[in-house]
Parts: sequence; structure tokens; C-alpha cells
Amino acid sequence: MNRQIPVQKNQTIELHIHTLGHDGQGIGRYEDFTVFVPEALPGEYIQAKIIKVQKNYAVGKLLEISDNKTASLRVDPLCGIAKRCGGCQLQHMDYQAQLLFKQQLVIDNLERIGKFKDIQVHPTIGMENPWSYRNKAQVPIGSTDSEAGLISGFYAAKSHEIIPFDSCAIQHSQNDELVLAVRKIAEKYGVSAYNEKLHKGLLRHIVVRTAFTTNEVMVVIVVNGKSMPHQDKIINEIATLSANIKSICLSINTKKTNVIFGEQTKVLYGSDKIFDYIGDIRFGISARSFYQVNPVQTEVLYTKALEYAALTGKETVIDAYCGIGTITLFLAQKAKKVYGVEIVPEAIEDAKYNAEINGITNVEFAVAKAEDWIPKLSIRPEVIVVDPPRKGCDQALLDTIIDMRPKRVVYVSCNPSTLARDLRILADGGYELKEVQPVDMFPHTTHVECVVLMSRVDK
Ligand code: SAH
Repeated sequence: MNRQIPVQKNQTIELHIHTLGHDGQGIGRYEDFTVFVPEALPGEYIQAKIIKVQKNYAVGKLLEISDNKTASLRVDPLCGIAKRCGGCQLQHMDYQAQLLFKQQLVIDNLERIGKFKDIQVHPTIGMENPWSYRNKAQVPIGSTDSEAGLISGFYAAKSHEIIPFDSCAIQHSQNDELVLAVRKIAEKYGVSAYNEKLHKGLLRHIVVRTAFTTNEVMVVIVVNGKSMPHQDKIINEIATLSANIKSICLSINTKKTNVIFGEQTKVLYGSDKIFDYIGDIRFGISARSFYQVNPVQTEVLYTKALEYAALTGKETVIDAYCGIGTITLFLAQKAKKVYGVEIVPEAIEDAKYNAEINGITNVEFAVAKAEDWIPKLSIRPEVIVVDPPRKGCDQALLDTIIDMRPKRVVYVSCNPSTLARDLRILADGGYELKEVQPVDMFPHTTHVECVVLMSRVDK
């Protein structure tokens, strides 16, 4: 059916915003036609200029918010570049409202994609202080024609234009300071910035990771080459910046790719790891290993996962997508035996090492794809925990879980849409959705993490 589109490009319209889209844009309806307006918030009456018209929706630019009806959800962003930087999408929204938005986002996905009805999703667990929470800064380096030397900053939304900054409101201050200092040292020794379009130049990213409980720091310099000019001098100067720096690595990435780290990592100073604690467990973390970026909320997340696993000490458990064994070692304290599987070899080396330094012996780790390795196991686990990347679980893994018939599946997810898709498959395979707990791991962004408990119906 052909229907008339009621708006045209460049037209200015008045709009009432009634909800938020999954990217945090305001959504209103103009003569029953959907209009997305970035930065507008639910409850607001606005004027918007239409900048794009598609068959089923239009996009508007926020021009003005009618004063007397301004929604109480709006706050002043803490960060001066919040509007331009693509890192945060919700700094202009009250924090409690952000938590409600994330809970609703999970409900919407479970209903729309997962076809679940009347589900209880718990309120999002937020942070007491939702600032300076990140333990890792990965900052792209560039240069501009107008400015001599190097610039560092985050990309603008949906682009690779670097928006320079010196400090970031959601980042640990030590990370910000060190990124800046390392950039200045590289500049002093004439290291060139990598240019993505031309695939030329050397310095791609500066990555700094601080372990919150020990303050230990790892600096990783990502280069499009095998080494840097004046490398020894550069490393010596970086090493003297702070006594907290325990490791400096060079990551060699000569590919034309968006992936930050290269295949090869060279340790140029100190150790190949830094150490952090989650609860009572000590973790060694190497450059390429995944480690949750918000340590305060990680503990909340893992404690929930452990609660949902409901272990008594007799169970055999599988932890799929185990990274450096964080969840595995948490579970091992309460289980008979835990098997962890992960695709990155360095992460499994870390996982084995971490089991050893904590004296945990009831664990076994494998480097493999979870979907290939788990079907070959001849055990019958009571609990399976999965914590996949954004794309969710492989269908083969979900089929294997259904065949293995564990009593409980604990699903840790960073993407509500793939979570909803996978939970539907498990539900159709004989599991009941019991608990859904969103945890705010990424305040001021639209990302939301969830822990979910599913139980086998016919035990
Ligand atoms: N549970 C860990 C890691 C979660 S991140 C933690 O909380 O720290 C997801 C992990 O899955 C990453 O370490 C990634 O390397 C790994 N991964 C990605 N695809 C995989 C696959 N097909 N099989 C096993 N692991 C995979």
C-alpha cells in the first residue's frame, strides 16, 4: 500500500517525543509517521528540521525545545564534548532515567525478538557514582592539517573523525593522563600518526589499562609497523612517567582493519601482565585478553551469575566464552568442577595461570570455539554459563545445550537483541525464563548488560 509521506527534507516540524530508540535517539510521530531526533528526550515538545526521509521513517535535527514543557529527564552533560563525541549517547539524560530506559530496552527486545510475554525484568542495577568507571582507554591517534603533531581522541558518532580530548568523564583519570603523556613523548620523537584512508603512518592507538584495586598500569602502543623510531628512548621515558606502570607492550598491526590490536604483541618493558582483584580472586591480565571495563559493576554482575547458578559444591559446570577465567574461577569456589572454553589462546594462558596463583584446582580450560568443543565433552553438566560477544551464541552451541539438558543455563549478555533471539531458542528447547537482571556496566552509553536465568522445565 502506498501511503503519502507527510514530511519533506529541510522542513521544520513540531514534535512530541514519546520514547527513545535503541541508540538513544528521541522518537516522535508526525501525522502518524515515525521521526527520530537524536538528543531529544521523552516528554519534550520540540522543533526539528528534517534532514533525511526514508520510506518508513524520517530523521530530524533538534532545533529547539519548548521552554515551559522541557522534560525533567534532561540534565547538563558533565563533559564539554558530549555532543560531538560518539563515546557517550546519554549524558544529557538523568541517570535514574537512563536506568529505566535500559530496563525498557531489555523488555522490548524480549517481547519483540524473543516473543516472550508478561516477563518480569528486574530494575537495572546502577552505580552509586556513574563517572570515571572505565579501567581501559583505547584512544585512536591522528593528525590534522591545521595542527602540528599528533591528536588523540574518540571518534564522532558513526564516523572516524577524531574528536580530540584531554580527559574523559567516564575514564579513570590515570588512563587519561597517561594517554596524553605517551602521545606527547611519541610526538617529541617524531612518530607519525597512522592515516586510515592512506594506510600509511605508524601510531594507530594508545591503550592504557589500570587495575582499580592495585593501581597497576599497562600501556600498549599499537603501530602499523614492526617498531618505532627511537624506540628505546620512548619506552624509557614512558616507564618513568609513573611507578604504577608495570608493563609496556607494542602491538603490531599492519592490516587495513578496524580491529585495534594486531596478532603480535612484544613486551618492551616490565611484565606481560598486570594484576587486579575481583572479590578475593587475583587476576593476571595480558594485553590481548578480554577483561570487563567496569570493575565495580563486574563484581555485581558475577555475583548475580553465581547466585543464579545456585551451586552447592556438587555440580559440574561449563563456562563458555570464559576469557581469562573470571567467571570460571568465581564459579569454581562453589562447584565440584568447572570447564572453561575460549577462542583466544593468550586468554586461556591467563586463565590457567590465574587458577594456579589462586590455588584453584577444580577447573579445566580449553582453547577452542565453544560450539566445536562442548559437543565433544562426555560430561553431563548441571549448569552451563554462557557469556558470548555481541553477536550472541552460535546455533550449534544452543542445540548442544538443549541436548545436554543442564538444569540451569545462566546467560550473561552485552546485547539484548541477540540475547532475546537465543533465549527464544532455549525456551523452545525446554527451558523456562526465570530471571532477567540488567546491570549498568556502561553508564551514559546506550549499552546494557544482562544476567539471565533459565531453568529446564522437565528436570
Ligand atoms: N566471560 C569472560 C569473557 C566474556 S567476553 C569475562 O566475563 O571476562 C566474550 C569472550 O568470548 C571473549 O573473550 C572472546 O574472545 C570469546 N569468544 C568469541 N567467540 C568465541 C567462540 N566461538 N568460542 C569461544 N570463545 C569465544
